[in-house]
Amino acid sequence: MAMESVNPMTGNIFHVYNEITSAEARHITKKVAQAGKKWKTTSFTQRAALLKELAQKLRDGADEYAELMASEMGKVMCEGRGEIEKCAWVCEYYADHGEVFLAPEQIPTESKKSYITYRPLGTILAVMPWNFPFWQVFRFAAPALMAGNTGILKHASNVPGCALAIENLFVSSGFPDDVFRSLLISSGKVSALISMDEIKAITLTGSTPAGQAIAAKAGTVLKKCVLELGGSDPYVILADADLEKTVETCVTSRLINAGQSCIAAKRFIVVDAVRKKFEALFTDRMKTASYGNPMDENITMGPMARKDLRDELHHQVQTSINQGAQCLTGGKIPEGNGAFYPPTVLSDVTPNMPAGKEELFGPVAAIIAARDEAEAVDLANGTVFGLGAAIFSRDIVRAEKIAAENLEAGCCFVNGFVRSDPRLPFGGIKGSGYGRELSHFGIREFVNIKTIVVEH
Ligand code: NAP
Repeated sequence: MAMESVNPMTGNIFHVYNEITSAEARHITKKVAQAGKKWKTTSFTQRAALLKELAQKLRDGADEYAELMASEMGKVMCEGRGEIEKCAWVCEYYADHGEVFLAPEQIPTESKKSYITYRPLGTILAVMPWNFPFWQVFRFAAPALMAGNTGILKHASNVPGCALAIENLFVSSGFPDDVFRSLLISSGKVSALISMDEIKAITLTGSTPAGQAIAAKAGTVLKKCVLELGGSDPYVILADADLEKTVETCVTSRLINAGQSCIAAKRFIVVDAVRKKFEALFTDRMKTASYGNPMDENITMGPMARKDLRDELHHQVQTSINQGAQCLTGGKIPEGNGAFYPPTVLSDVTPNMPAGKEELFGPVAAIIAARDEAEAVDLANGTVFGLGAAIFSRDIVRAEKIAAENLEAGCCFVNGFVRSDPRLPFGGIKGSGYGRELSHFGIREFVNIKTIVVEH
């Protein structure tokens, strides 16, 4: 079957690829597992050298890869280049620190020797989304391969060009054959792969329904999975926040990647004392954001990744308005063939509206009123999700206490927007998934934490 990648700016087909058959997918999976037998015997020094070469290749091809992302899912060029640089960083980070993170740990007991050693699990299946088509893959692949595992990528169906480019990067950097492979398959073929003995664990970054499907399947064959799912990140704005700076941070976070980031700010929970002022400043700033051709270096946002996703977002906006939300700017689908959606601000949003309870995966901000700090925290936590959260206040001590003790999320920021960093663990709680990526926690997700005891 054909797998089409469509340019979301024009609606035209960018490229057509051939989807591989289930038999071909099984065959490649077996080859990757076979390659793992030798790969796990390589030294950390050898793996680190290959990861460093990979980082260099990524940097050398940054413009080419940014163009590919712009053509397949509409990311603006400067953000694309930034994404590639971050991929290079995560490769270098694990090249530099992987061996230390996985060094054996001696534990004193009454035995002659007892220690923990971290051994690779084998072949890991990664099911990945289109929104950061390089970064999501590298933040899994760099630690997993550094630990001695091999990797199979099933990428989102609308970014097959990125999937193949990533596979080629591993080859051109000198990784042995079949240590990392991309399978151009639809999601319907994933379940059978999970059942294969050769697949030892699964990592999924994607929507909550995809997470539920994969976790259910992995459960039937008792395989570990890490789930990085959606979010409806709350940004809590307290009465003493520096509003000018806060608005700048909130707009940046809401519009990054045309609003299609799992950790973008989605709900802005503002205490009544400053709500009107915040709304006015925020709306004015959202109106200044430009959108258009992602290859245009001066544009804030490109189109959304697909028209069906744009239409779904518009439906959430319309339903929220019908239920009483006020549209302060945007909210209309522009004419033309591109999957564009304007920066949109909804106020008077309540938790029962789509904008208040569902993930808004596009450039739409929901402003929710709170009487006071206590109600703001309750509203922030009143969601099925728990990925990121932020709080804004000049009283840093108080805000930090709320971030650390009260906000229910995997990553909480004070006076800044939530972002991932190879040095810090990343992941969610509640409906946003489980497991952690990045930092020393990420590299220990796909290893056997093995106890060795030697008696006298
Ligand atoms: P998606 O529709 O869930 O797709 C993600 C991946 O899962 C794709 O490869 C997709 O394949 C596959 N998939 C979907 N349903 C499946 C099923 N039932 N069985 C097996 N595989 C399945 O999500 P998306 O639209 O690509 O990405 C956006 C979502 O990802 C948002 O909810 C966002 O918040 C989340 N996300 C989370 C993080 C995080 O770190 N927590 C990061 C980025 C994105 P096909 O494309 O072939 O359907």
